[in-house]
Amino acid sequence: METEILRVDSKKPDQEAMKRAGKLIAAGELVAFPTETVYGLGGDALDPEASKKIYAAKGRPSDNPLIVHIAEFDDLSRVAREVPEEAKLLADAFWPGPLTMIVWKSEAVPYATTGGMDTVAVRMPNHPVALSLIRESGCLIAAPSANTSGRPSPTEAAHVADDLSGRIAMILDGGPVGIGIESTIIDLTEEKPMVLRPGYITPQMLSDVIGREVIIDPGIIAMDDTKKPKAPGMKYKHYAPKADMAIVEGDEEAVVSAIKLLTSRAKAAGKRVAVIASDETQARYRGNSRSESGAPQHGAAHSEADASCCGDNADEFAADVVLSMGSRADEDSIARHLYHILRECDELGVDEIYSESFSTPRIGNAIMNRLLKAAGHQVLQAEDIE
Ligand code: AMP
Ligand code: MG
Repeated sequence: METEILRVDSKKPDQEAMKRAGKLIAAGELVAFPTETVYGLGGDALDPEASKKIYAAKGRPSDNPLIVHIAEFDDLSRVAREVPEEAKLLADAFWPGPLTMIVWKSEAVPYATTGGMDTVAVRMPNHPVALSLIRESGCLIAAPSANTSGRPSPTEAAHVADDLSGRIAMILDGGPVGIGIESTIIDLTEEKPMVLRPGYITPQMLSDVIGREVIIDPGIIAMDDTKKPKAPGMKYKHYAPKADMAIVEGDEEAVVSAIKLLTSRAKAAGKRVAVIASDETQARYRGNSRSESGAPQHGAAHSEADASCCGDNADEFAADVVLSMGSRADEDSIARHLYHILRECDELGVDEIYSESFSTPRIGNAIMNRLLKAAGHQVLQAEDIE
């Protein structure tokens, strides 16, 4: 199958283009599209055959349910057996936006879409292209992230094309996404509302709206195998770069020193090393000759991860590649760069990756949840490295 890549204005998508994309969905085909979180791979949510196509295109295990995307709040009652009062409050506060709610499913939703579950995940995305696609198709759109299963979620159309070209009908290219990590998932079918996947919207923000405690699924906090996460997708091993990756935690000074020491040891053993740092620290992992001029290269409007290559090989502490996640003063930029950088890791040809920790105040949980998975939960304490 030839995949058509269609550029659309992310704020005001061309009506004719969106009509064409909508028709493909209505005809049971798959279309990838931008949302504010990551790119989604869309198909008609109420057509089991379309859902099966989504699983096949991604190579996704069929017990891992899809999120149903809607453009009008009233459509929630088409897919939910009943609409809980708290869902109305949360929708008022956060929809359209990066929040997915789990409710009991109605008969209209096929088990092929919910991975055999009696509940359904629903979200109203905050992106003109996504909303227009749903409306033009006349369907509700099931859409997981538009990556091959096990790879990082796509934050640009090029990532989607890398993974899914030839397997889907169309990719709507609306440029890079705004948030860069997947939606927060809250389960409203439990006695206590429970976050199954951390995201941009925090448990505190949710509990402020519904006026009672929101808990976090113990299965995603446990780093061992004692508890399984409730969201089937959270139990799968997520993307891990081919290189060995470890996260180094501690005070900034201790972390920088520890990573430099680890780098010098790895280099002495003949290995190539990449360091994932922040705008504030990235220059310190470069060779001596770069330390003055190593300004991060985040463009203001269209920021690209800085993968400039690097180390002054005369400096034993210099990394071969330094990637900056963005400024610690701007958590959002860190979230936005995360998947881009993880995708890049495999193209760098390095043997070891050391990353600073990014437990930032607000969305640090969501960022670290993804980063820890990528590192296979290998965490080193800076003060132990000497
Ligand atoms: P993705 O669409 O790739 O962002 O993944 C969707 C996530 O939502 C996966 O982790 C799914 O397991 C989870 N999910 C979807 N529907 C449900 C459901 N009914 N109950 C629990 N988790 C769900
Ligand atoms: Mg996904």
